[in-house]
Amino acid sequence: MRSITTERHPDVDSPFELITLGTAAGPAIRGTEDGIASALRVEDTFYMIDFGLGATRAVHEAGLRGKNFRAGFVTHLHSDHVVELPAFLLWNWGAPVDGFTAPIEILGPGQDPTHPRGSSLSGTAAMVEHTLAAYSYDADIRATDEARPVLREMVKAREIEVPAPGSTEIFTVYQDELVKVTAVLVKHPPIFPALAFRFDTAYGSVTFSGDTAECEALANLARDTDILVHEAVNLDFFKRGNFSPAFLDHQRLSHTSAEGAGRIATLAGARSLVLSHFAGVSTPEEWKSAAASTYTGDITVATSGRRFAVGRAPATVEALV
Ligand SMILES: [Zn+2]
Ligand SMILES: [Zn+2]
Repeated sequence: MRSITTERHPDVDSPFELITLGTAAGPAIRGTEDGIASALRVEDTFYMIDFGLGATRAVHEAGLRGKNFRAGFVTHLHSDHVVELPAFLLWNWGAPVDGFTAPIEILGPGQDPTHPRGSSLSGTAAMVEHTLAAYSYDADIRATDEARPVLREMVKAREIEVPAPGSTEIFTVYQDELVKVTAVLVKHPPIFPALAFRFDTAYGSVTFSGDTAECEALANLARDTDILVHEAVNLDFFKRGNFSPAFLDHQRLSHTSAEGAGRIATLAGARSLVLSHFAGVSTPEEWKSAAASTYTGDITVATSGRRFAVGRAPATVEALV
């Protein structure tokens, strides 16, 4: 459930902020939390990591506007991570909504080369292209009727080149003057690729697990990071329910318990752990105590709209003057 903190606008005292816009796994609605999506604000610019159900409203309520959006990063193509990408683009485009009026980028996985029908299934570029085609009537009308920029010229999709399956290599996917984004392949079978992202800035770093089983490559990516945002599954919740063996196997082989998230945070030497992307139901206390059994650092059970100031203050230069 969104808390009152979502009414706050970006805190100018904190140049680098993580906002957990939504924290629920899916496609399922098992509570009041919005679907998985996070934003990173670096100074006046913000970046998105996944676009789960509710992301568009959550972005707005967090005080973020499309005119300050630069790039979105998709961890993998399960629908709970991308379902609101079309709405996010359409609701943040053009001056009438304080939206983007210069090109923005959407980066995500390409087609799955390990899937027998992968070459006929959409990667990120096709997903964006199909979105632009599906809403082409609206996009054309608003470009002329409301003097918005041509949507197709504003939205640039880029598929991330990834190493071969099983690789633990850390690779760079994006860089501008504010952030450097690196990634590793994580373990989310049968999905390929599934990515974890690390964002390094002048103010500190945040690492996102994406969806994964316990993964040592992720711990390497997250080495000494300020915040590790890690998924968590409650397998007991699913075992108690009326779920098929195949569904239970997916949860067991492709996701991480809160204890496992704590183990990865410990292995990484992460300065703090934020649990998000909750699969199955537990109380916040249960999620936290499970992670605390394997990690002694600071742990937060994320909620939709929660804000985290990240890393060190940029006061060093002024302090020396
Ligand atoms: Zn997911
Ligand atoms: Zn997934």
